[in-house]
Amino acid sequence: MPLPPGRSASPATETVLNEAFDRILRRNPGEPEFHQAVKEVLETLAPVLDRRPELLDAKIIERITEPERQIIFRVPWQDDKGEIHVNRGFRVEFNGALGPYKGGLRFHPTVNLGVIKFLGFEQIFKNALTGLNIGGGKGGSDFDPRGRSDDEVMRFCQSFMTELHRHLGEHTDVPAGDIGVGAREIGYLFGQYRRLVNRWEAGVLTGKGIGWGGSAGRPEATGYGSVLFTAEMLRLRGEDLEGQQVVVSGSGNVSIYTVEKAQAMGANVVTVSDSDGYVVDEKGIDLALLKEVKQVRRGRVGDYAELRGPSARYVPGGRVWEVPADIAFPSATENELNSDDAVTLIRNGVKAVSEGANMPTTPDAVRLFQEAGVAFGPGKAANAGGVAVSGLEMAQNAARVSWTFEKVEAELTRIMKAVHDKCHETAERYGSPGDYVKGANIAGFERVSDAILAQGLT
Ligand code: NDP
Repeated sequence: MPLPPGRSASPATETVLNEAFDRILRRNPGEPEFHQAVKEVLETLAPVLDRRPELLDAKIIERITEPERQIIFRVPWQDDKGEIHVNRGFRVEFNGALGPYKGGLRFHPTVNLGVIKFLGFEQIFKNALTGLNIGGGKGGSDFDPRGRSDDEVMRFCQSFMTELHRHLGEHTDVPAGDIGVGAREIGYLFGQYRRLVNRWEAGVLTGKGIGWGGSAGRPEATGYGSVLFTAEMLRLRGEDLEGQQVVVSGSGNVSIYTVEKAQAMGANVVTVSDSDGYVVDEKGIDLALLKEVKQVRRGRVGDYAELRGPSARYVPGGRVWEVPADIAFPSATENELNSDDAVTLIRNGVKAVSEGANMPTTPDAVRLFQEAGVAFGPGKAANAGGVAVSGLEMAQNAARVSWTFEKVEAELTRIMKAVHDKCHETAERYGSPGDYVKGANIAGFERVSDAILAQGLT
């Protein structure tokens, strides 16, 4: 399957990239999300490979697209009635050239090896962009926590960690949360790890509770970071968030703190959603109520609409992208915003799109946004705030100190500006000003490639 011709690729580079992608398709069958993520990166790399043929000689493309290690394991557990269930666990340690493998764990019924590989592959570049020393990895299970009791979730987490612990360590592999894995799950996972290794090794997991090794500002980091990245994109266009109408998808960790930060910066956020539908709230989302429904009651956005009263309307099965907005924050899951949605958003005058989730925008939709001149922040850059603060959590754990929320937020703000500027400057240097997709991919790729080259054939 030929990649669309890169704008400045020499025929030799073009051939290498096409052959590499064909080989990836052949050797990784049945993994469409992984193919999509790799294709999106390879399509943008021609200019850097043209300028730096030593990267082709060193077979960096082949090496960076092959995980260093892939672990698949059985996770048996018992529900509250005593019935036995068997799930599948995954950890893909994709690239460790820049530091310990780092990336979240996802518990969702749609998880399979291809999904974890797509997420792990993206994570390499994202982690490189933060400027911190963290490698790329990702893991999870097809376990569905929805409707499970705390005890069931605990038993599942204990069984999951009973196998995974032998592959982890503060200098080896450091997981965090993702979809379906929040503070509760990280607590159960850490407890089981501690019991198995007989060490209080805080730096082995991030996203821990504040009182026992977690970092202030970690729950907020991804959502806040996504808004901060958007503020930088808008600043270059002489705008800010004040008074902008905002749509957010999802209602989990990333979405809630996207709402919080966007509101703090003066935006009017009118939607949140879940996999059953969305709510549109004319008066603006009531953040305290949203947190109560989602974080305390573990409820649905339909419950929010019911409790909120007449200003909120619940739309079962609908998509937030049909609500007119200046700025859109896809913050739920992959491929949730397609080309039809992009057409609708563009018709309604959207100015900026920031990917809080990983790969939420389909390739066709990304192209439409870019052609329409919409400022588009790809997930690798826009949602890097979460892993950046995870890196800061590791630093605090290593030094046995705890920073204040204010200090973490100031660091996060500095890092998101640096990530933005790096993407912007790289896109310009490679002849595509304003193309944050190309800027993020090339900047991340160059940093990881240089580390791989320096470390010899690994
Ligand atoms: P949560 O589990 O807290 O929330 C996920 C939200 O997305 C829920 O509202 C959920 O709805 C919705 N959702 C999940 N899967 C689907 C689906 N298949 N179809 C429709 N809606 C779905 O996860 P997070 O907020 O942590 O993660 C959201 C996204 O952000 C993911 O793409 C994740 O990889 C990415 N991300 C997260 C980071 C973090 O720090 N947490 C860091 C960087 C990226 P429902 O309840 O109905 O399932």
